[in-house]
Amino acid sequence: MKKLIIANWKMNPQKLEEARRLVSSLSYRMHLMADHTEVVICAPFVFLPGLMHHAGHIKLGAQNLSWAAAGPFTGEISAQQLKQFKVEFVILGHSERRLFLGETDSVVNAKISACLSNQLTPILCLGGEENAVRDQMKTLVTKQFNACTKDLEKKQLEKIIYVYEPVWAISTMHKSTPATGEHASELIEHIHTLLAKRIGEGAARNVKILYGGTVNKNNVSEYAKFANVDGALVGAASLESENFWQVIKEFNREAIHRT
Ligand code: PEP
Repeated sequence: MKKLIIANWKMNPQKLEEARRLVSSLSYRMHLMADHTEVVICAPFVFLPGLMHHAGHIKLGAQNLSWAAAGPFTGEISAQQLKQFKVEFVILGHSERRLFLGETDSVVNAKISACLSNQLTPILCLGGEENAVRDQMKTLVTKQFNACTKDLEKKQLEKIIYVYEPVWAISTMHKSTPATGEHASELIEHIHTLLAKRIGEGAARNVKILYGGTVNKNNVSEYAKFANVDGALVGAASLESENFWQVIKEFNREAIHRT
């Protein structure tokens, strides 16, 4: 299975010019990697029209969307609106949206459905909640997984990309510390087991489950060495071309090694 590296730019950079520079230099380098590794850039909404012709070997994603198809929802963006700009992925359930914007599991569930009805791939983050306790992450992940995927059918569950992203590992959180590779791999296996119960072991093996939380060029090998870590969701380091490139290269090296 190809590795997948997703950049979560959050509310960065400040200028379209800089966003284009990051995407263009990466796209140029990616044509050598595309056989084993895919890269998705989840950019702020306002940059997506300006990036669609620069993406080349990179795919584009958004960081949110509305659960509604259209209508009186001030400030919201619909799936159809995103699709005009070659957007293929949407991050959902991110800790920052849960903690700072009050997003709940049932809202995430509705947004997953909005994505899937419009052939957009949801990137579902699991592990973010206020006061999440480090040694109880399996309980939290199980609760979020069940609630966010409630009533979804096998075919729908297969189309989601899952990310284990413990809130305490996100680089910008107060007193954050990245997860160990062992912990990330163990929780990814846990998500795999939850999924396999719903869709069967064979189908679950083809679904990507990533790790997110302070992945960068200095620690990427800690995660990439585990076969069940299918890639990474990268925040801060994805805004530094060279740093992000080293993350991609390390996962790509592992992917080649395992073929
Ligand atoms: C994130 O918030 O999705 C993330 C992965 O951030 P960072 O890599 O900066 O921890």
